Amino acid sequence: MGKSAAVILGAALAWAAVTGAAGQSMQAKSAAHWAIVVHGGAGDIDRARLGPEGDKAYREALAKVVQAGAAVLDRGGSSLDAVETAIRMLEDSPLFNASRGAVFDADGKTELDAAIMDGATQRAGAVAGVAHTRYPISLARAVMEKTPYVLLVGPGADAYSLQAGMEQEPLSYFFTESRWQSLVDQLRNQGRPIPSRPAGAPSHGVIEPVAQWQEAEGDRRYGTVGVVALDRMGNVAAGTSTGGMQGKMPGRVGDSPLIGAGTYASNRSCAVSGTGVGEFFIRYTVARDVCALVQYKGYTLQQAADEVIQNKLKPIHGDGGVIAIAPDGQMTWSFNTPGMFRARLAEGGKVEVHIYSDEP
Ligand code: ASP
Repeated sequence: MGKSAAVILGAALAWAAVTGAAGQSMQAKSAAHWAIVVHGGAGDIDRARLGPEGDKAYREALAKVVQAGAAVLDRGGSSLDAVETAIRMLEDSPLFNASRGAVFDADGKTELDAAIMDGATQRAGAVAGVAHTRYPISLARAVMEKTPYVLLVGPGADAYSLQAGMEQEPLSYFFTESRWQSLVDQLRNQGRPIPSRPAGAPSHGVIEPVAQWQEAEGDRRYGTVGVVALDRMGNVAAGTSTGGMQGKMPGRVGDSPLIGAGTYASNRSCAVSGTGVGEFFIRYTVARDVCALVQYKGYTLQQAADEVIQNKLKPIHGDGGVIAIAPDGQMTWSFNTPGMFRARLAEGGKVEVHIYSDEP
């Protein structure tokens, strides 16, 4: 069964055809209705383990985030601004595997990845393996807007973060006891060496209340965050931010900061943010593949997302999902896991927040 849903704003949209040759900026000719879709990761999200309190906490967080992004769009802000605003809130929340709530790698370190892409111009910026940046999505945007590059990694990205005046945090800021215990459990179960607690981490850490809910993500902790948005100018944008996969080999980079894999946006097709086992999303260029089906085969956004997530990835156990938005107002999600934290809102509509696969 496809775990998916779509909303089409339909005739009310005043989107006009975009013009321009490859490489040129594409401008909408008239105002469109805005729309925004948010995800907080896909995985083995279980209703029983999440429990009523966890369920409530995630739903409230997602609702707040989608509303904050929508407020930017409603006052005429750009889709890029909406994406960045919403992702910064998700990066501040310990509930999600991005920045503050990032998972640990096998050495007990957090390594943060993020990307942002502007569908109007197809400019993109990304960072991988950064250590101290509080808002990796803003650093990705700075790479896009202030450097001639697309992707900066590791110490170079950290150095640029300082130079660009990005807010920095000590490693202890990114330490959550629940994530730590989760890493220890995973490594122990797999018979792998357990690293010592990171410097600066509290020695007698109190397990945060979010621990039991994070456990609900099961062994597959995909709490990556992502946002896609359409603004009144008819421009789409996408952004993704993550701590990657728990217990990963240090230096491993997933799909999230790779343009075309976990993140992609073009006014010619759509904007996509993915979450799942990054290696599959990289090898199948998931985000770009969804948009290519829209662009070259005339698929609806829902058909395109389902084709990639349900028909291509699911049979090969490429677990995960995508959210997507198109310049004509289509909003979609599709995932092949038991759950995906997700929310959406279109101008004139109601906030929708869903977690499990038996919801719309
Ligand atoms: N896709 C991310 C990665 O592989 C993980 C996730 O979505 O949770 O790094």
